[in-house]
Amino acid sequence: MPNNSRFKTRTFATGVVVTLAIGFISLFGNSQRNAEVFLGTQERALAQKKNFDPTSNIKSGERKNYFPNTEKLAPDEMRVVALGTGTPNFRRSQASPSWLVELGNGEKFIFDIGTGSLANLAALEIPYTYLDKIFISHLHVDHIGDLDAMFIGGWISNRTVPLKVWGPSGLKPEFGTKYAVDRLREMFTWDLTGRRGNMPSAGGQIEVTEFDYSKSHIIYQKNGVKIRAWPAIHGIDGAVSYSLEWKGKKFVYSGDTVPNKWFLDEAQDADLLIHECYLSVDQFIKLKNYDPERARIVATVVHTPPSACGKIFSQLKPRMAIAYHTFNDFNTAPDIIADIRKTYDGSLTLADDLLVWNVTNDEVYTRRVIGTDEPWPAAPPHPSGPPDPSERTPRSDWLDAGRVKFPD
Ligand SMILES: [Zn+2]
Ligand SMILES: [Zn+2]
Repeated sequence: MPNNSRFKTRTFATGVVVTLAIGFISLFGNSQRNAEVFLGTQERALAQKKNFDPTSNIKSGERKNYFPNTEKLAPDEMRVVALGTGTPNFRRSQASPSWLVELGNGEKFIFDIGTGSLANLAALEIPYTYLDKIFISHLHVDHIGDLDAMFIGGWISNRTVPLKVWGPSGLKPEFGTKYAVDRLREMFTWDLTGRRGNMPSAGGQIEVTEFDYSKSHIIYQKNGVKIRAWPAIHGIDGAVSYSLEWKGKKFVYSGDTVPNKWFLDEAQDADLLIHECYLSVDQFIKLKNYDPERARIVATVVHTPPSACGKIFSQLKPRMAIAYHTFNDFNTAPDIIADIRKTYDGSLTLADDLLVWNVTNDEVYTRRVIGTDEPWPAAPPHPSGPPDPSERTPRSDWLDAGRVKFPD
């Protein structure tokens, strides 16, 4: 028995040692393997980092987003940026209406310049000297509200040429664009006088070309660009819609209007067709608390409701239909789109600020602009020369004598 017992003890001891050893080896081995796996992952990550390409994984970003100043247009390509797509109810999410049309030949045209839209324009960091042509659809504040800032702020932001404005006449001279621009210049007499002689003078000019609102005619033609205006029905007499044609591409902008025969005639064969599309009568009543009669007038007598907008799109069949001048919100957009879709099944965008459309012969595609919230004015393309001190209006001697001069 003792032998047997010793044997058992030895066997037991051996068993314990073997078990411990196996356990240790197993434990060590596992941790070794785990460590290898862990280190392997890290090594692979490090190896990947060495070849890390920050743009390799943004395929969808390239598809969806436009980064200003990174894309050269093809010689016959058109790019249109929504700078404002909203209404007179100004809001951070949607500025009042404004559209930038850029052409492959480098020319740029602005249609309307509504309240708040300039902040979106600035986010593109385009030199202001290139942004010198503005076409006004009508003189409602939501379509010209940032004209003052563009005039003088654009000058301060390095525009080296006069700002040129085109816009319609009205039933009387005081209802026309010239009257409005002349008064705007007068309103800023103090501002302009103080700057003259301290800044190069050309950028501080604003020139206006007023055209007959009552007929369909070409109001601008240069470098192969043809801009046509025709009567719109909105407010009192004096609103118009526009088209811009260049190298077989056609941009159409309704401004504000109810559906009308001129639009249906002139907006045929559009590549981009931008038409106003306010809320429905029901939405005005429910969401804006309008009484039914006021809602009916605003939605159908002054503006175009979504259902009628859809009929315009389905009749004209543009390559891309764009509905704007509405509240593009989570609680309005589904019903607006549903109303348009009752009759129209083609390409459609419910416009939002800083969406951008490229028009080529092969396709029309929509992306979102990724601009900067902290823009600085870009340098002018050509130096503008020093200011002319003879234009300066000096301060009164007594006022200047009150200055306290600190040593530098
Ligand atoms: Zn209007
Ligand atoms: Zn409007």
